Amino acid sequence: MNIKFLDLNKQYNSIQDEISYEINKTLTTCDFINGSSKIQFETSFAKYIGTKYCLGVGNGTDALEIAIKSLNLPKNSNVLIQANTFIATAFGASHNNLKPIFVDIDPQTLMIDLNDLESKITSNTSLIIVVHLYGSSCNMNKLINICDKYNIKLIEDCAQSHGAKFNNKNLGTFGDLSCFSFYPGKNLGAYGDGGAICTNYENLFNFMKSYTNLGSLVKYHHDFYGRNSRLDTIHASILAVKLKYLNLWNEKRRQIAQKYDELLKDINHIELTKIENNVCPVYHLYVIKVKNNKRNNLQQFLKTNGIDTIIHYPIPLHKTKAYEDYNDIILTHSENASNEILSLPIYPELHSNEVEYICKIIKSFFE
Ligand SMILES: *Cc1c(COP(=O)(O)O)cnc(C)c1O
Repeated sequence: MNIKFLDLNKQYNSIQDEISYEINKTLTTCDFINGSSKIQFETSFAKYIGTKYCLGVGNGTDALEIAIKSLNLPKNSNVLIQANTFIATAFGASHNNLKPIFVDIDPQTLMIDLNDLESKITSNTSLIIVVHLYGSSCNMNKLINICDKYNIKLIEDCAQSHGAKFNNKNLGTFGDLSCFSFYPGKNLGAYGDGGAICTNYENLFNFMKSYTNLGSLVKYHHDFYGRNSRLDTIHASILAVKLKYLNLWNEKRRQIAQKYDELLKDINHIELTKIENNVCPVYHLYVIKVKNNKRNNLQQFLKTNGIDTIIHYPIPLHKTKAYEDYNDIILTHSENASNEILSLPIYPELHSNEVEYICKIIKSFFE
C-alpha cells in the first residue's frame, strides 16, 4: 500500500464543481485584485473565527510581518517565540528590527513552556508570538494572564490551527492579532499562496489595509511607505468554498487522530503528543515521539513500506544557520523533540484502513 503524506487531489475531487464555478466567476468578471469575493471571504472568515476584522494578505509569512509592524513596537525590543516552529514566525520579528528570544517547549504537549516563557520576560520584552503548533494549543488562560501581568502584546500564529478552540473559544481570538496561512497544505488551503490577519482593533486593521495596499486606501493617493501584499480574489473565492467544509474536515482529522491514539498507545518506544486540557485541536499534523534513537530507522522502514512521513521540524530555530548568533543557546526539550518527533499522514480523506496499515507497519518495526 502506498500512502502519501498529504493527498490534496482527493479533496479537490470532492469539491471540483464548486471550485470551477468560483474560478470561472472571477475569470469572467476580471475582478482579480481586491475583488468582491475577497471582501466576502474576509467577512466570512472574521465571522467564523470570531473577530471584528479580517484582512486577506499574500501569505502567512507576510501576515506575521505585517501584524507585528502594525503594533509599532520599540526598535530592538524582544519578542518571545517558541524554538520549535516554522521559521516564518521568527522572520516576522527579525524583519521588523525586533530581537527574537527563543523559548523552550513542554516535552509532553510540544507547545510553548509557559514557565520558561515567564522567566525570559524582561523590561525589554514587547511581544509574545504563540504558535498553535500542529493545530493544538498551550493553556491560553495562563498565557493571557502572563501578557496582562507584564503588559505585553500577544500575536497568535494560527497557520496550523484554523478552527481549533481553547475553552470553546476559537484560537485567533485571544491575542491582539492573529495570523493565518492558506498555504495549500494547511487545514484551510488555497491553490497557491494566501494568508490573513484577524483582529478586533479597528485602528490596526485600517493601518494594515492601507499598508498592504502601498499606503493607499484611495487609488494613487499614497499616505506613507506601504507595501503590496493582498490575498488574490481567485484564491479568496476558493477559500470561501472550502470554509464551508472546514468544521467537517477538522472533525474527520480528530477521528483519524483518535484512531492513531488507540492503535499506537501501547507500543513501547512510542510516546503520543499530549493535548492540553480544554483544547479542541484540529490536527494539522499528527506527531508522535519515537524514543531511544529509533526515529530515523522507523521513518526509513515506513518509507520502504510505502508510507511517507515528515519531521516538523528537524532543526529548532536557535540551531539554524539563519540564527547562527543563537547557536550556542541550549533549549533541551526543543532539541530532544527535534530528534524524536515524526509526523504521520493525516488528512480528512485518509481511510481508516490506511491508518490501520500504518499502525501495523509501525508495530512490526518494533517486533
Ligand atoms: C505555514 C506556516 C507559516 C507561513 O505561512 P506561509 O503561507 O507559507 O507563508 C507560518 N507559521 C507557521 C507555524 C506555519 O506552519
